[in-house]
Amino acid sequence: MAQGDYDLIVIGGGSGGIAAARQAAGYGARTLLVEGDRLGGTCVNVGCVPKKVMWNAAHMASTLNQAKEYGFEININSFDWATLKAARDDYVKRLNGIYQRNLDNSNVARIEGWAQFIDPHTIGVGEKQYTATHLLIATGGRPLVPNIPGRDLGLTSDGFFELEKRPGRVCIIGAGYIATELAGVLNDLGSDVTLVLRRELLLRPFDHTLRETVMAQMHSDGVNILTCIQLQALEKEPNGRIALTREDGGRIEGFDAVIWAIGRTPNSDQLALGKAGIKTDDNGFIITDRWQNCSAAGVYAVGDVTGRLQLTPVAIAASRYLMDRLFGGDKEARLDYEAIPSVVFSHPPVGTVGLTEDQARSCYGDDVKIYQNRFTNILYAITEEKRPTVVKLITTGPDERVIGCHVVGDGADEMIQGFAVALKMGATKADFDRTVAIHPTAAEELVTLR
Ligand code: FAD
Ligand code: NDP
Repeated sequence: MAQGDYDLIVIGGGSGGIAAARQAAGYGARTLLVEGDRLGGTCVNVGCVPKKVMWNAAHMASTLNQAKEYGFEININSFDWATLKAARDDYVKRLNGIYQRNLDNSNVARIEGWAQFIDPHTIGVGEKQYTATHLLIATGGRPLVPNIPGRDLGLTSDGFFELEKRPGRVCIIGAGYIATELAGVLNDLGSDVTLVLRRELLLRPFDHTLRETVMAQMHSDGVNILTCIQLQALEKEPNGRIALTREDGGRIEGFDAVIWAIGRTPNSDQLALGKAGIKTDDNGFIITDRWQNCSAAGVYAVGDVTGRLQLTPVAIAASRYLMDRLFGGDKEARLDYEAIPSVVFSHPPVGTVGLTEDQARSCYGDDVKIYQNRFTNILYAITEEKRPTVVKLITTGPDERVIGCHVVGDGADEMIQGFAVALKMGATKADFDRTVAIHPTAAEELVTLR
């Protein structure tokens, strides 16, 4: 027997689900949110938030290393991973509480448990059933682990956040955001890091200039990068450490920890989607149209479970537009997935928006013009260490509309948001040139490119 009667049921209390529930309730929709785990989802508990705390710690370590050259006489006796982890966990707990209060204050009803479809308008949670006119799937994803012998000897990014002490010798397998970010963090915090790629370069979807710069810098920072490795298995060594065996018979031995960072798989397999006629692609991602509609009327999906750009602000924005459309009377509201900026929290970080050079050339051919500069940030003027900065603008057409903006270097993470506004507004190279520089900054190089 169905219990409750809602305008909207949201399955999943992560970035997308919480944003949707609060927006809908704000329009007066009777809203229920179902979450089986901690509120806040991946981003808050095992993603962006604890990752950024770790990145900040790594950044601090590298600043401390430079302090002496800036005249500070300081003695760093030790770094205590456990102190950092405890403070980070406390912060995440505080955020869990804030999310709960925000939902309560927004008049969103909430139940704990795992939802499954009964039909397109009904879900079951444990023994109970709930119905709604509209159902939103915002169930996110989980780390992918390959199907090879010994796979469980490796951790995932979830396990990384549970580590009680810094691993001495660590191997990270993968080539995307997480592999790049965790390798940089662990390296700056003093682990001996080996990064194992199955191809030649990191960060495949990114502009080649960024990829080459990040990889060269990681190499010079001391990360051991092994390329074109096809793995066969993980094995426990007699000394308790972990070894990787390769398809060509080679072995890479002696790791205290191995971390899988090879992408994520959607949380769609436990939802009984077939009962509601909801279709997925071959990898389990829920198929949606550009309005976030699923294949069943009245059912929608947002965020990581749809396999589109797996970023928190994307899940949030798609949710809010959808609620504007369903309950806010804005029939045309939908997220435009073009020119979405993102940052890789590498060392130094990457900020990127728009087309890569390769994408631009395949769309616009000879109409593409590239402006690029490579320099050393003034931060390193008096230090021995010199991390590079590269800025790159990609333009097209006679008016030189800027269609790609890519930066790697200190400050790129904070720099790119503003330039993303300019791209979204259709700025041209002349608009960039007309903007007076701010000196001395790294960002000024983007408005002084010749
Ligand atoms: P999630 O946040 O994953 O939420 C889904 C929720 O649904 C979960 O809480 C889950 O428990 C719940 N759920 C699943 N199935 C059910 C069910 N059947 N019933 C009830 N509840 C269910 N993005 C950025 O923009 N910037 C970053 O710096 C960044 N760093 C990241 C670092 C790491 C290590 C990782 C793993 C991800 C990172 N991301 C980052 C990506 C970001 O976390 C995700 O894109 C975002 O969390 C997706 O939001 P979502 O709402 O789609 O899913
Ligand atoms: P990504 O999709 O970024 O990268 C995974 C990479 O791993 C692939 O591109 C692939 O690279 C490689 N890979 C895939 N399978 C294998 C395999 N079997 N063996 C070896 N390598 C393999 O996934 P992540 O797990 O790094 O991150 C998941 C998502 O989370 C990201 O896509 C991103 O959207 C989000 N995220 C965002 C962050 C941010 O905004 N700063 C930070 C962290 C995560 P190749 O094909 O080149 O070999």
